[in-house]
Amino acid sequence: MNQEQLITNVVEQVLRQLGPGQTVASAPSSASTSAPTSASTSASTSASTSASEPGVFERVDDAVETASRAQRQLAAAGLEVRADICNMFKQMAKDNAQSWGRIEFDETKIGRLDHKVVKLELLEAVPGVEFLRSAAHSGDQGISLDEAAPWGIIGVITPVTHSIPTLTSNAISMIAAGNAMVVNPHPGGAGSAAMATAEYNREIKRRFNIDPLICTVNPPTLRTAEEIFRHPRIPLLAVTGGPGVARAAMKQSKRAIVAGPGNPPVVVDESADFDDAARSMISGVAFDNNLLCIGEKEVFVVASVFERMMDAMRRAGAFELTTAQIDRLAQAVFSYEKDHYAIRKEFVGADPRVLGKAAGATVPDGAEILFGETDETSPFVSEEQMLPFLPFVRAPDFDRALDMAVKYEHGFGHTAIIHSNDLNHITTMGRAVNTTLFVANGPSTACLGAGGEGYASYSIATPTGEGVTNPLTFTRFRRMSIAGSLRIV
Ligand code: NAD
Repeated sequence: MNQEQLITNVVEQVLRQLGPGQTVASAPSSASTSAPTSASTSASTSASTSASEPGVFERVDDAVETASRAQRQLAAAGLEVRADICNMFKQMAKDNAQSWGRIEFDETKIGRLDHKVVKLELLEAVPGVEFLRSAAHSGDQGISLDEAAPWGIIGVITPVTHSIPTLTSNAISMIAAGNAMVVNPHPGGAGSAAMATAEYNREIKRRFNIDPLICTVNPPTLRTAEEIFRHPRIPLLAVTGGPGVARAAMKQSKRAIVAGPGNPPVVVDESADFDDAARSMISGVAFDNNLLCIGEKEVFVVASVFERMMDAMRRAGAFELTTAQIDRLAQAVFSYEKDHYAIRKEFVGADPRVLGKAAGATVPDGAEILFGETDETSPFVSEEQMLPFLPFVRAPDFDRALDMAVKYEHGFGHTAIIHSNDLNHITTMGRAVNTTLFVANGPSTACLGAGGEGYASYSIATPTGEGVTNPLTFTRFRRMSIAGSLRIV
């Protein structure tokens, strides 16, 4: 089968799965009853946005045409306008956090409503124009100026796990850098992405008289993603998602910034503060029911302190499953496909009580996560299981715990966590895991500024190495040199 046929088959399969008469833009009717929001006056507050909304296109070519015009307008408008637009995105996301969080939750049906809201509020910590830096070189030969220039149009792919947050985080970084965007959202969150796109573009037009800078394809398909990948007027791709899309993006003949999958391991050694470790892990895993790529996914504990760690988890309010219940949960949530386990869609980001029911356990109100002992062969250890169950594995000593952490991170180079007060262990693990993000003694979110220091982003470029993306990530280096003059000292 050639690639064209393969794509056609996949597209047909996706459409069949959506069912007759249903489009990827459709959303539950409850979304359309949301209250109007402060930042929008005439705007739709439903995820069922029509293709006539500003910046929402059925055809990639139309999206590119508009993005190209808008990008030229942005270039003419200057830096101050870019800064104002980025601040506007943050303010709108904050003002609309409740209603947009609800819309995304109703559409995607994964994760936690309260955290959908928090994720929109956290966009405030995404850096804007202030992050751009020029460098000057001055000497006997004159002066040179290094500038961070826009690429033009960036082709963007967003995940279902954070549809509006990733769209907005990317918009702040990319538009601060002077670019426009053509976005192929995940079909499962496309209605929310299209709604936010239209709201943002409407305000950009009203306040700055600039055409849609965010151009979102709706309905998105694998075919439209492919068109974006290959479009001659899109010089740069920025892709956030799992292994399939990461591989597809890196095969293209143009540059791709890829924020790929993770399977963050945690190591706990003899010197850890177990209560603090328990509170940190619960906070990281409970966040949006563990949908975050940085969230703690499996724990390796040195055997001599294993029981103390488990006691601390119980004290901190996590609900423990027995071995039989964990086996039952695994039967329910995983399917075996060809050569690997895959998580069934209905359990992605599911609530602890839903998982408890599948495991045959009654989980009390207030238990934010489930946990239990497994061995390293459990699929909960090897798979990136985006759900609030945390498997704990006994390791004979620190070295073996570290070996397993490295093994099950799978070389994604994403995130790893340690709880330890032994500086040598922290240093040794930091070197060995070689991940983009490495947290010691805090929740996984510490590395994105929530419970730790540093700026935020919803796209952590891992296989391509750019790290926590920011406006500079989306710029081209340009140098202007004046030979022999303008050095005034
Ligand atoms: P996904 O891979 O199913 O989908 C991501 C996007 O890629 C969607 O828009 C989807 O439509 C598109 N896509 C999928 N296969 C494609 C292909 N072959 N060609 C073109 N487009 C394709 O992922 P998801 O379930 O939406 O998100 C969860 C995954 O994303 C997890 O693996 C998570 O770790 C990862 N993620 C990573 C980051 C990061 O910053 N590194 C952030 C969020 C999510």
